[in-house]
Amino acid sequence: MPSFSSCFPSSSSKTNNPIQDPLISSTTGGSKVVKGCIFCNSSKENGFNIVYEDNQLIAFHDRKPRAKIHLLIIPREHVVSSVKQLTKEHLPLLDSMRSLATSLVPDRPPPKMGFHIPPFSSVPHLHLHVFSGPHTLIGRLKYPIARRGRDIGKGWSWFVTIDQVEKILQDGGKVGLGTG
Ligand SMILES: [Zn+2]
Ligand SMILES: [Zn+2]
Repeated sequence: MPSFSSCFPSSSSKTNNPIQDPLISSTTGGSKVVKGCIFCNSSKENGFNIVYEDNQLIAFHDRKPRAKIHLLIIPREHVVSSVKQLTKEHLPLLDSMRSLATSLVPDRPPPKMGFHIPPFSSVPHLHLHVFSGPHTLIGRLKYPIARRGRDIGKGWSWFVTIDQVEKILQDGGKVGLGTG
């Protein structure tokens, strides 16, 4: 089995129970921060190789790149822990994540973008994987795209593309391991 730990930017992380959702604690100002969540603490000081940040989003290099370019894009706030909790309301957020990704990597070859599906998700803070250029061998195993027939719909997989997520949410569904 491939290792599912590469989205950790630091090997000294204390977040080692990816299945359990952390308790979301609201702080003043309404911004959501989760204690002990390494992505809630993304900063250059904490060892993140940040390539872009604004009020809403942060983009940084994956510590163990599985393609020529391998970025992670996260909402600054702990909006949800994983792709499974996304609903229609989050479509604008996905849209901003996609446009940021598009602005950060070359458009040829077309970048691959998607999410891990728990329990196969190593950091419980929503993060979009963005790959540009060919995968490494492990990358191909870790981030497979499963399709249902010739449809864009999702097949059985622990990885789901952003297109598949948007389609599922637009139809009022939720993302899971099975076919969407
Ligand atoms: Zn991941
Ligand atoms: Zn977080």
